[in-house]
Amino acid sequence: MKKAIYPGSFDPITNGHLDIIERTSKIFDHVTVAVAINNKKNKFLFSDIKRKKFIEQSIKHLKNVDVKLFDGLLINFVIAEKSNIIIRGLRVLSDFEYEFRMALMNRNMNEAITTLFMMPHENYTHVSSSIIKEIATLNGKIDNYVPKEILNEIIECINDIKSS
Ligand code: ADP
Repeated sequence: MKKAIYPGSFDPITNGHLDIIERTSKIFDHVTVAVAINNKKNKFLFSDIKRKKFIEQSIKHLKNVDVKLFDGLLINFVIAEKSNIIIRGLRVLSDFEYEFRMALMNRNMNEAITTLFMMPHENYTHVSSSIIKEIATLNGKIDNYVPKEILNEIIECINDIKSS
């Protein structure tokens, strides 16, 4: 069984992330979306539990995808999951340098692990979790950018955070 791991912050999941998950699920037997756990250094807006739940609510139509939290070195998680494939998304050229360095570093640490890059549909190349959070905080419409299953909950969470 060929398994792929798609790691990230997913703070929150966007339609761009979902596009990559759907593409990956058509190529691999199984996909695990790996959500980075909150730690002191990472200032995520949503808790890891919430970020995981948002993804689970968005992937119900995909039978060969699951979601797990991970902490520590990604390559250790990939090996523990009995995979050797890391999926990352590339939107624009500015993503490239960081992703290139990360992929080479992971391969240096473990030669057996390969990073594959995927491009989302062009409708999503400008979409990022941070822009969505900014728009929603300013009461802008985010309907086209986040999965419909979680739209209202994201808006409610952001309103709660704003008023707290
Ligand atoms: P990280 O903090 O690990 O970059 P993100 O949640 O921001 O976590 O992104 C996870 C992966 O998804 C990265 O490879 C990123 O480039 C990719 N990604 C983010 N947004 C999009 C999008 N709109 N389309 C395709 N890939 C995306």
